Amino acid sequence: MLPAGALFMNLRNFEQEMQQAGNSPKMPVLFLGHGSPMNAIEENIFVKGFRKAAQALPIPQVILCISAHWYTKGTMVTAMEKPPTIHDFGGFPKALFDVQYPAPGDPEFAREIQEIYRPDLQVSLDQHWGLDHGAWSVIKHLYPKAEIPVVQMSIDYTRSAAWHYETARSLQKLRHKGVLIIGSGNIIHNLGLVDFQRIQEIGYGYDWAQEAHQLVNLHLRNGNDKALVEYQQLGKAMQLAVPSPDHYLPLIYTLALRDAQDELSIFNDSLLAGSLSMTSIKLA
Ligand code: ZN
Repeated sequence: MLPAGALFMNLRNFEQEMQQAGNSPKMPVLFLGHGSPMNAIEENIFVKGFRKAAQALPIPQVILCISAHWYTKGTMVTAMEKPPTIHDFGGFPKALFDVQYPAPGDPEFAREIQEIYRPDLQVSLDQHWGLDHGAWSVIKHLYPKAEIPVVQMSIDYTRSAAWHYETARSLQKLRHKGVLIIGSGNIIHNLGLVDFQRIQEIGYGYDWAQEAHQLVNLHLRNGNDKALVEYQQLGKAMQLAVPSPDHYLPLIYTLALRDAQDELSIFNDSLLAGSLSMTSIKLA
């Protein structure tokens, strides 16, 4: 009789072998609202939501993360063996700067992306970035042991949402190769209007934030990607919700990877501090 731990490892090896043999189950796609970097070390309802979502995920061979915090001219992928944990923020406690997320990289996978992601674009293999907090502050709740390799892909700020949507579709085939793709941003993200008196107040959104929240969720549930890609045409509330595209575009990547069989589930679906939302989605 095998102890439970050994049985788990055997099942896990079996799953990995199946994936290596090309029989990978289709991987879900996530969009995670990451919010404050403090979510990395705090215990709260959102962190619980990430952990709960992780319980239902197949074990990936590698994670590809498109984070709002790597916003570049041209597209890059991290290609180092050991991506450093980047503390790309200021004014937070030392405990947050002490966090390390030592997941390995996967240079071979980075080269594969270079081949499949619009080969004419010349995606750059990066040796200088690493894992920014848009990636590690949420992935650490999904995979706390940091045993799954993580590769980040940057967002080309010179391109439109429509371009990102079309181009991201070339990554769809990775879902059948054991790759868990995660967009990490925030759908409603207006830092300039955050109500710092009510910063912790879950569910608190200004009228325009509530309007944008309802509108986005309606389009998400109806599969109306076109409206979500053309978000700037959705009126004043959305313009306030998305004053700059950086935290919204990771959602566009997630939506672009949806196939006809996918079902959408929404979690951590709360407004926060007046002008933020933590809404996260899973397509599976
Ligand atoms: Zn952020």
